[in-house]
Amino acid sequence: MTSDVSPALWIKDPLAILADGAERGIVVREGRIVELVTAGREPRTAAVESFDAGAHVLLPGLVNTHHHFYQTLTRAVPAALNRELFPWLQALYPIWAQLTPEAVDLASTLAMAELMLSGCTLTTDHHYVFPKGVEDGIDIQVAAAKRLGLRVLLTRGSMNRSRRDGGLPPDTVVQDEDTILADSERVVARYHQAGDGAMIQIALAPCSPFSVTTSLMRATAVLAERLNVRMHTHLAETEDENRYCMEIHDCRPLEYLEECGWLNQRTWLAHGVHFNADEFPRLARAGTAVTHCACSNQLLASGTCPVCALEEAGVAVGLGVDGSASNDCSNLVQEVRAAFLLQRGRYGIGRVSHRDALRWATKGSAACTGRTDVGTIAVGMQADLALFRLDELRFSGAGDPLAALVLCGAHRADRVMVGGRWIVENGQIPGLDVADLMRRHAAAARKLQG
Ligand SMILES: [Zn+2]
Repeated sequence: MTSDVSPALWIKDPLAILADGAERGIVVREGRIVELVTAGREPRTAAVESFDAGAHVLLPGLVNTHHHFYQTLTRAVPAALNRELFPWLQALYPIWAQLTPEAVDLASTLAMAELMLSGCTLTTDHHYVFPKGVEDGIDIQVAAAKRLGLRVLLTRGSMNRSRRDGGLPPDTVVQDEDTILADSERVVARYHQAGDGAMIQIALAPCSPFSVTTSLMRATAVLAERLNVRMHTHLAETEDENRYCMEIHDCRPLEYLEECGWLNQRTWLAHGVHFNADEFPRLARAGTAVTHCACSNQLLASGTCPVCALEEAGVAVGLGVDGSASNDCSNLVQEVRAAFLLQRGRYGIGRVSHRDALRWATKGSAACTGRTDVGTIAVGMQADLALFRLDELRFSGAGDPLAALVLCGAHRADRVMVGGRWIVENGQIPGLDVADLMRRHAAAARKLQG
């Protein structure tokens, strides 16, 4: 179905739904949710077709707020195994420097397909490697997202502080400030859609304090304000980063961020592992959101994001799969489980439930992206939905269907809808030859890794 010519669709009698007052399901029309159907009622909306959701758990579409699609080409690379962030990056930068346009296309398509099949309806990506020949990396990603029908917030990433300037990356993967700013402005002008229902949005995203100059950080903040787009970067990921900031900038990462004009409501930050208690209220006052990357933080042993403390201070927290060279997968519903387990382990049973983890991946993540039209099932919201079946071995005999998704380890959505259009049906992406994609992607990965 497409948005404006379709009749209303009643997604009827779900096994369970993450919304109150919608026991008999929801009605979608013209790409939006137009009615919640309460117990014992029929839809009031006229001309309703129905989809029987009796075998499905119905969630708002999951929102992924931190990722690097290109890293699907460097999963489980032997030289990077068992290393912490800085040496891990140093092992991988030279490989990433060999990226080609075709490799970016294949990696982006594969990562988005993996996300969609795990219930994702909106993803961000942080592409910050633009070696010679891949200057149009964002254009390639936009085209791939359009082909798949996934909603995206692509970030124009950047690195301009290489080894010769005291940064971490090699000279071959960085660009100069003028080139970065000009291309940022170009991709925003060309692709960014504002307002409800936007399918493609662009944000600006210098990579991290240790790979970008202060001048570029400041100029990016000024440009983002002028263009009215969001800003994203990695922050407070490791103790190494704290030490680097103290050494180079004589302050902690958050103070540095503020000095650069970044501590505001446009910004969401990946990781936020090493903020201290004084910094939680500063983030909250500024309206800056944080993405929790549970798998990545565990794999690189970076530490544990203080999610409950951040939320209790008033900071919006979402989830991100990160990677895929530090996760190494792009499965968002598995990330929900990982975040649930990690945070429950840290904060205890009374403070973290499966519903909290589902909220982080939906409403919390939507807040990271600055959107108010996705992330919950309510009248007027975009019809972005994820439907999971529970007829697999792992769910057999489960009692509470919503809890089962998280506790038993859901890993694959049966159906996914974006803006009223099915982008996953019966566990498949219509029109995508997954076997062919994997063959080409694996060949590109082999070539890249040499
Ligand atoms: Zn990252």
